[in-house]
Amino acid sequence: MRYPLDRFEEIATGFRFRQPYPASFGSLAGKTHLGLDKGGRNAAFPNGIEGAWLFAPSDGKVVGRFTKPEGGNTIHFLDSKGSLWRFLHLLDFAVPPFALVVEGTKLGQVGSTGVSTGPHVHIDISKGGLLNLADIDNFIDPELYLRENISPANPNAMIWDSILGTFRRKFGDKATTAEPKVISVLVKMADGSTRLDLVRRFDDGSVKSKKGVSFNEWAQNALGTPVPQGDADQLPDF
Ligand SMILES: [Zn+2]
Repeated sequence: MRYPLDRFEEIATGFRFRQPYPASFGSLAGKTHLGLDKGGRNAAFPNGIEGAWLFAPSDGKVVGRFTKPEGGNTIHFLDSKGSLWRFLHLLDFAVPPFALVVEGTKLGQVGSTGVSTGPHVHIDISKGGLLNLADIDNFIDPELYLRENISPANPNAMIWDSILGTFRRKFGDKATTAEPKVISVLVKMADGSTRLDLVRRFDDGSVKSKKGVSFNEWAQNALGTPVPQGDADQLPDF
């Protein structure tokens, strides 16, 4: 299982699991929010996360694909453990209804369709594959569910894999030997300046930036080709 969005942990959240809607939400006011909203603005997404890809969290099936007044463009996805995910407010769809997909397949893009105050995706998960909005206890906290089932445990490892993939495409055979422990990346900062950062993958799978650049900025704004550093032991501590 994987996070359904890249940079899942760093994307600011709106409503959280089981938070009540405020009075400004009309007919929803006072009702319990049964999922998690992922959205927000940052340097990487000045217009929120509109257009960010939504990925299948596991192998599974698209059991529903609808456009509804409240949820907007909506996907219902049955995961490999038999839980039903709903993804709401999508910009568009990237899969047909009833598609069988593998983990990581693009399902659609984050949008703001339906009743929504800005680009975000609403994610909720029902145990046992049965959706019943009246049965609050059948909804699982998506973050807890992901923490229990995700692989790898560290989301930064996915970003490392992505940069390593770029490096391998560039260097081909020369890169197929041992995986480097440190890769240098040129990062374009929000103010337009650039800086060279070093990122290191430790033996326990954690990934750190030497200069403290956030992984969000790092993944969005890395320029050029990562260059491997030969021997991590010769570099200063991270
Ligand atoms: Zn929501």
